[in-house]
Amino acid sequence: MGLHACLVFAFWYAQVELLSVFNVLSVVTWWFGITLLEREQQSLALRIFSLEVTIHSVLVCAVIGTDYGFQFYLWAASCLLLLDTQLKLKQAVVWCAAIIVIFALTYTWFEEPLTYIDYQMFAPYLHLLNVIVCGIPMIYTIGLIREITINQQRDLETLAAHDSLTHLFNRRYAHGLIQQAYKSCINQQQPICVVMADIDHFKQVNDLYGHELGDEVIERVAQCLSQQLNNADIAVRWGGEEFLLVLPNCSQADAQKHLEQLRQSIEAMTFGKGALQVTMSFGLATWQAHCDFEEVLKQADVALYKSKHKGRNTITVAPQVH
Ligand code: GH3
Ligand code: MG
Ligand code: MG
Repeated sequence: MGLHACLVFAFWYAQVELLSVFNVLSVVTWWFGITLLEREQQSLALRIFSLEVTIHSVLVCAVIGTDYGFQFYLWAASCLLLLDTQLKLKQAVVWCAAIIVIFALTYTWFEEPLTYIDYQMFAPYLHLLNVIVCGIPMIYTIGLIREITINQQRDLETLAAHDSLTHLFNRRYAHGLIQQAYKSCINQQQPICVVMADIDHFKQVNDLYGHELGDEVIERVAQCLSQQLNNADIAVRWGGEEFLLVLPNCSQADAQKHLEQLRQSIEAMTFGKGALQVTMSFGLATWQAHCDFEEVLKQADVALYKSKHKGRNTITVAPQVH
């Protein structure tokens, strides 16, 4: 809009009244397009911008020729069309190609311009300026598409790796991380522990306080787990109210101390304006070398079952298998 406003005066000064008046129309068109953008009507706005730039470039080239570089705005117009995601790719490509063909034709169509303005000596500088200004929308478009792609990739990776309620890793994604952690601990002859944890009597929480509060309990318990874990630890939402913790570089004794702190923290939490408290049971197993994940998981599961059997809200250590 600013550029067109400047051109109103520039062309008036150069005594090319037709282009001066046309630039007034362009200012109005861009103002209208910007209001459409503010109303989130991006697609229509982009089409209007593109059409305006195309007509304007052709008209300027027809009137003063191609020496001033106004034909390069056609490249920018074609880039703008690509941002219109409501336009099918095929349609966008056809329109963009058409604009580029018009660009090529300007050199033959307008070899003889309608007017020769008095400031021919400024032509190379204006040509350079126009090329630079036209490059900006192209860089912007490609940069924007790049940013959108990177953000979408990141979002997809996060969605694929995490559980939507707790934001802990989901089961499918965690497998790879767990195997990596195991290999690294075994190579460095460091201990690694596996823990199954389950909220006690959770069915009653849902039955007595509703599913919504049940969800809040799962979410906050998961938060408590991830806050109290070390950076290298892996917390996974294994099932509904069941969590798997993998603690690399952690001996059985340290894991036990750590779990005791977790158990106490969860016991101290209150939900539903203080009306509800929950507890958690744990089963802890040390992951030995030459033992596969399924085996250690089973040991932790059996230990968790024992914790439930002992009256819940407790930690059971699986016997070491040699
Ligand atoms: P225990 O102490 O033996 O673990 O008893 P429990 O009631 O916790 O165990 P049970 O497996 O019988 O019940 C688990 C309940 O968790 C049943 C299921 O409806 C509920 N649940 C599973 N996933 C979700 C969830 O995402 N949100 C809510 N609100 N409830 C869930
Ligand atoms: Mg339970
Ligand atoms: Mg359960």
